Amino acid sequence: MLTKKVLTFVKKVRFSSFFFIFATSVIRRIVYILLFYVLLVSNAAFSRGIKTNNSDTVSVLNQVQHLLSEYDSTLMFPAFELYCQWDTLTIHPYEFGQGSLKDTSVINLVDEYNCGYVPPFCGEISSNFGARKGRPHYGVDINLETGDSVVAAFGGMVRIAKRNKTFGNVVIIRHSNGLETFYAHLSKLKVSANQYVEPGQLIGLGGNTGHSYGSHLHFEVRYKGLPINPNDLISFEKNQLLSNTLVIDSKSFEFSAKIEAKKTNTKSAKSKYYTVRKGDTLYAIAKRHGTTPQKLCKINNIRMSATLRVGMKIKCA
Ligand SMILES: [Zn+2]
Repeated sequence: MLTKKVLTFVKKVRFSSFFFIFATSVIRRIVYILLFYVLLVSNAAFSRGIKTNNSDTVSVLNQVQHLLSEYDSTLMFPAFELYCQWDTLTIHPYEFGQGSLKDTSVINLVDEYNCGYVPPFCGEISSNFGARKGRPHYGVDINLETGDSVVAAFGGMVRIAKRNKTFGNVVIIRHSNGLETFYAHLSKLKVSANQYVEPGQLIGLGGNTGHSYGSHLHFEVRYKGLPINPNDLISFEKNQLLSNTLVIDSKSFEFSAKIEAKKTNTKSAKSKYYTVRKGDTLYAIAKRHGTTPQKLCKINNIRMSATLRVGMKIKCA
């Protein structure tokens, strides 16, 4: 029955020029056929259209066109296949984690899309990537004067161009190789989200906005949201790339992995103690922490009959 319906419909539209307009490339043709089939199967209104008139056929073709344009629009975003999202509002929208980056990938820094590197600003490094006063610094700070031109290091599409409490005026560009570059503390934004930029294109003016003490450019390179040391790919002394490719493996994220591990340890150390609240019993606390009241008594050196005072710290592990 369904096959008959499909055949009837295909007969009707096979000579329609609409049918072939969208099927010019191999990928499009495959997507076209898939979407076409999905629509045939799922759209009840469409089924009625087969029996009646051509206007429904046109409507279905419009739906196919609409779905195709949605498919095309995802292709428009650089490295969409890697991220499966395009967020122009959230600075850090990804949650890939270290575990997803165990494989080694070699990415091109120079290719037909990313046709070269241009230093975002040629200046001295005032603070490098790594630990800084006990806190992580995920970028490289380059000295500049407020108003100096800051340019895109690589070609790509602007994902973020907005003001942020920490970064001040910040531009984030996603590149076709999956890298994202960050340009923070700008005094002025010269691009907007969803805009394509060439390598070396003006994206903003240097400044001192956000959490910044003195004019500088905070420049970050990230892959799947995780920071990479910009010195792994760029020589800031020579203002050029170290190589045309970049190997990305677990070593690339050693620093951020250490920071993550530290955070987790602090969290678990904190969770070893529980502060007694009103109405708590040893049984309830033990159950919540996956242990027994007897064990709690032993590690806290208290009796089963002990009275729990509100605010008392109970060691749970
Ligand atoms: Zn910085």
